[in-house]
Amino acid sequence: MIESRGLTKRYGTLTALEGLTLDIGPGQIFGFIGPNGAGKSTTMKILACLLKPDAGRASVCGLDIGTRGDDIRRVIGYMPDFLGVYDDLTVDEYLQFFAAAFQIERARRRVIVDQVLELTDLTPKKHALVDSLSRGMQQRLGVARVLIHDPKVLLLDEPASGLDPRARIEMRSLLVELGKMGKTLMVSSHILSELAEMCTSIGIIERGKLLYAGSIQDAYAKTRQAGHGERIAVRLEREGVGADAAKARLETDARVARVEADAANRTLAVELTAGEHGHHFVIEALVGAGARIAAFQPEDVKLEDAFLKLTTGALQ
Ligand code: ADP
Ligand code: MG
Repeated sequence: MIESRGLTKRYGTLTALEGLTLDIGPGQIFGFIGPNGAGKSTTMKILACLLKPDAGRASVCGLDIGTRGDDIRRVIGYMPDFLGVYDDLTVDEYLQFFAAAFQIERARRRVIVDQVLELTDLTPKKHALVDSLSRGMQQRLGVARVLIHDPKVLLLDEPASGLDPRARIEMRSLLVELGKMGKTLMVSSHILSELAEMCTSIGIIERGKLLYAGSIQDAYAKTRQAGHGERIAVRLEREGVGADAAKARLETDARVARVEADAANRTLAVELTAGEHGHHFVIEALVGAGARIAAFQPEDVKLEDAFLKLTTGALQ
């Protein structure tokens, strides 16, 4: 649905985007993640045909951005990172205005506006002034606006930014809902955890370069390959008893990368070799050595760790 090859954009001497190559398939919810200034908005503006790249090409729904801009605008919904100010317009008037701008016949506007209000949970706010809405509601209104012409592809630039936790959850469930409706979503965020769980794939961009694109599971797997093995925190009931032997056994096991222990060998941090799974042999080593386990806590590789690993790794 979205395809780019070597997209590059310069602002004067600054290269905001460098050789961006990306594929987003139909029905995907693609999380476009990177810190402020990474080039996310630039990319989305190029895909929305609002900005011309200096090099490279891209297509949306098979339509080339260089030649089919008008057709692309009809099949996409682009929500910029800032909602304009609309003094003295009610939510209903605001949406009616955009329905008219999208050349939807007068008779159908009422039905369509009511549908998008319902979908974005804004029906109770239909007659409220846009400026009086909370930030969360304004962001949902922004989404409602880009749904009016029923686009196949949505480009949403930081829709969850600046929202309180509750509003963020509401935004996320709205996006999941849109995914279920079969729409293809590209959603940007500068906060990894804001989006991660709901995305079918993610792309990590930094300083104009795409550092990673793929599934979140693969991001975890890559992190493990990069030397971040799974960790297990172990606490033993009594210091000393069997702990020294258990520690020695684990240290000589090829499946274990490292064992850290306190002076009494009562708390152990066992790091498995990268790519290694399964905890049974750790328990067996402990029990076999006569140690009594008080706590056994496997710690998954965190997405934040994966993110750091991927980004710093690629920039070294
Ligand atoms: P993001 O959306 O990831 O925060 P942007 O795409 O907005 O990043 O910006 C990428 C880089 O390009 C930043 O360094 C930003 O300062 C710069 N930039 C963006 N728009 C302009 C512009 N119109 N003129 C000059 N520099 C710009
Ligand atoms: Mg931006």
